[in-house]
Amino acid sequence: MGAKRVIVVGGGVAGCSAAIAVAKAGLESVLVERMDTLSGTGPLTGHLVQYVARMETKLLDGGGKEVIEALEGLSIFPQREFGHQVSCIFDTTKIEKAMLTTVEKAGVEVILRSRVVGVEKEGNKIHRVVLENGARLEGDAFVDATGSTGGIPVCAEWGVGCVGCSQKCTVFGDRVGLSEAAGVPDLPKTASYYVCTYIHPSSIAPWLLRSIQEEESGYFYYQVPEPWQNHDFTSYWPRKDRPVKNNLGRERLIYLMPFVKLFVSTIPMDILHQFPGFEDAYVISPMAQTGNCVKTSPGAPHDETMRVLGLANLFCSGLRSGDFSSLVESIYTGDLAGHNAARTALGITELVTFPKTTMMGFFLWEIKKGYSLSDYPPGSPVDRRYLDVGLDVMEPDRIHERMNRVGLLGLFGQRPI
Ligand SMILES: Cc1cc2nc3c(=O)[nH]c(=O)nc-3n(C[C@H](O)[C@H](O)[C@H](O)COP(=O)(O)OP(=O)(O)OC[C@H]3O[C@@H](n4cnc5c(N)ncnc54)[C@H](O)[C@@H]3O)c2cc1C
Repeated sequence: MGAKRVIVVGGGVAGCSAAIAVAKAGLESVLVERMDTLSGTGPLTGHLVQYVARMETKLLDGGGKEVIEALEGLSIFPQREFGHQVSCIFDTTKIEKAMLTTVEKAGVEVILRSRVVGVEKEGNKIHRVVLENGARLEGDAFVDATGSTGGIPVCAEWGVGCVGCSQKCTVFGDRVGLSEAAGVPDLPKTASYYVCTYIHPSSIAPWLLRSIQEEESGYFYYQVPEPWQNHDFTSYWPRKDRPVKNNLGRERLIYLMPFVKLFVSTIPMDILHQFPGFEDAYVISPMAQTGNCVKTSPGAPHDETMRVLGLANLFCSGLRSGDFSSLVESIYTGDLAGHNAARTALGITELVTFPKTTMMGFFLWEIKKGYSLSDYPPGSPVDRRYLDVGLDVMEPDRIHERMNRVGLLGLFGQRPI
């Protein structure tokens, strides 16, 4: 009998983490990506938050550890306190290469420019994925890490249509979710929108660029000019049937990643040009200015092991698995999905879950119960709940001790038996 093989579909951070977890478990790991690079929506990010979950993920010693360390290696600003978290801003222009190097170093076979368009299955078990060019890839277990942004019909239905975003669907074809292709319908969709404007640093006033650069933490709070402080910027979003929430207020967070990332997406250019420092601002991101980076949710129905309901050997991760996925959440759900896919391929029936006494488990299972992304910030209901159970404790020894207590320490760094 040949080596067991897991096929991971989608090369964002979740897929990279899953694919490395499979390789670390000692199986053949194949990562299939429709675009010509890895990292998916990663180049739009830049802000690595959720310190405790990040530390827990590293202590698991799976694929997530490699991915997080690769991102931390791109850090522009030292890790600083942000609310009650320690976060890090990294150079997103280097993420694509960093992900490719990291997965290849881990022994993953990467297949780029190959969109999965279907599956071949018998009963509740998938045997092969079918690529757009007709080729078939056989596996013992599979991971759906296809994200939730795009394709073009989704953007048109939930947003203001396709304006050529990072997903490059016009070139590489629309996103296809593996679980849907296998006949498992997604949970009912609700829309959420990423709300940032990306500006070329050379186009803002030198004094503003300097002020952002000199901010030790990397986070700069821009004072919104008086006449616009209480203005309703959401009114510029054209889809009244699908309202967006984000407004400007009195100040707005900016950081360099290394583009100028301004945390609002619905300022018309003619108004932005009236803001001191932004007189000549040039927006580099085609999708952000009207808030048209549409992410739908909640994706594939799954259980606590990330197994897709109704399928024996398909696991899901990252944005594909829920409405709450930041980079760190995408990474550790990728790790869990990859490791459990490896176990399934080996015929091991006992799968791993993250208990709610870990931050990873808390995010996975508490936030699922009706919280939304807007409940995240310090002082929010979700935040207060994890503070209550002591999950905000940042001392490395305490996090280590907690992971040890629940039997997760180094678990994904070993071959499962
Ligand atoms: C504008 C924006 C800003 C953000 N900022 C931050 C931030 O600062 N901090 C943070 O923590 N999070 C941020 N996020 C969230 C973060 O980007 C995501 O949580 C994370 O990158 C999702 O990773 P993923 O692997 O699940 O999905 P994706 O990154 O969407 O990757 C999915 C991959 O699957 C591929 N794919 C899809 N269908 C197929 C198919 N059929 N065959 C083959 N390949 C396929 C896609 O091409 C893509 O590469 C931001 C998101 C956006 C959109």
